[in-house]
Amino acid sequence: MLLRLDNVSKVFGGVQALRSVSFDVAPGEVLCLAGENGSGKSTLIKIISGVYRPEPGATMLFDGEPIDGLTPGVARSLGIQVIWQDLALFPEMSVAENIAFERNLGAGLRLVDYSAMRDAAAGILARLGVTLDLDSPLRELSIAQRQIVAICRALIADARLVFMDEPTASLSQAETDALLVIVRRLSADGIAVVFVSHRLAEVLEVCGRVTVLRDGRNVGTFPTQGMTQTRLTELMTGQTFDQA
Ligand code: ADP
Ligand code: MG
Repeated sequence: MLLRLDNVSKVFGGVQALRSVSFDVAPGEVLCLAGENGSGKSTLIKIISGVYRPEPGATMLFDGEPIDGLTPGVARSLGIQVIWQDLALFPEMSVAENIAFERNLGAGLRLVDYSAMRDAAAGILARLGVTLDLDSPLRELSIAQRQIVAICRALIADARLVFMDEPTASLSQAETDALLVIVRRLSADGIAVVFVSHRLAEVLEVCGRVTVLRDGRNVGTFPTQGMTQTRLTELMTGQTFDQA
């Protein structure tokens, strides 16, 4: 397994957001993290990306190595990348500058080599099979295009595990379909993708396994093969629906 978690809990004041969750991700797989609002999905992603610390007693292994005391910077250097819902991009910078942002930070006070930066950004876009104007300011792009820029930025930083927190929430069906093509491409390149979505049809279509969180607990991880939307809803809500 690329990532293996055991006994991960998180308490915020009086709220137990995660209760002894185990979770694993294999290299190159597309895994869905499903669960109703408030079930703990984002909290789990924030723990794996070093934003929050789990309660003591958790085990977290990446590539078989312990990753206790993870910080966001260490997580990124390991290849753990998150495409946040707000995307954390820079509206006034160009597509190329957004894609190469971290690489440029790495250049520190040295002058940024713009043509190398554009080449790198163009190479990543080509790898995804996407056409975007490298010089457009980001604010001129659609949400779906910005999403792609955020994915490119993760790739240029050598992502091995990409979390997408509700990436299709504000996309049209056509944009969603295009994003799912990109997700499959990442997976074919050996990059593991963990995908959070409320749209169960697309979850069952693109993901090989689904991990269901309910009320901070991991209800289980199931192959999507043979899984129905009704069954998945039952697992998420804990209610049984009459299928008569
Ligand atoms: P999801 O992403 O599945 O909707 P979250 O992980 O955001 O769920 O939230 C899980 C629970 O933890 C919710 O009850 C939420 O209100 C609570 N929670 C999440 N983050 C915080 C925080 N920073 N402070 C207090 N409570 C939080
Ligand atoms: Mg969330």
